[in-house]
Amino acid sequence: MNLDFRRALQYFLRACLLKCPECGTKPIFMPIYRIRRLRDYFTPLDGCPRCGYAYERELGYFLLSIWAINYGGGSVLGIAIYCYLEYFHHLSLPLLLFCVISPVVLFNFFFARHSKAFFLALDHYFDPHIKGGGGGGYGGSHTKEQPAPAPVAPQVAPTPEPAVLV
Ligand SMILES: [Zn+2]
Repeated sequence: MNLDFRRALQYFLRACLLKCPECGTKPIFMPIYRIRRLRDYFTPLDGCPRCGYAYERELGYFLLSIWAINYGGGSVLGIAIYCYLEYFHHLSLPLLLFCVISPVVLFNFFFARHSKAFFLALDHYFDPHIKGGGGGGYGGSHTKEQPAPAPVAPQVAPTPEPAVLV
């Protein structure tokens, strides 16, 4: 496996800014001021308006980002807070639960977009889309640009010349 740290850092920074992993200019999500429903906050756009990179490659594409990155990060945060409070402060159980759970819920809400952006960057790094594959946009995984077949001129039967009547 060939690791390119410069490209990995570039994708990571683009994910931090919630920008397209391919071109790094257009956003992955709808801007906050245009959100009308809570669903708009969590749902990425269909693709990059500049380069056409498809953000959601297939149905359920972001499940791993939610379960592994977002919930995993929240779990690590909760465990760290619990260990800190349990070791340095002796709180009652209800207060301890409140102090552990509430930051985790807030973290999961505000980190949801970044977890999807990090997943996109990670997937684009290890399994990049290559432009082509028909349709002019980005195709599925491992689609390599194929040369277009040469157009075939239609065969036209010669028409007989019309008879001239004198
Ligand atoms: Zn783009």
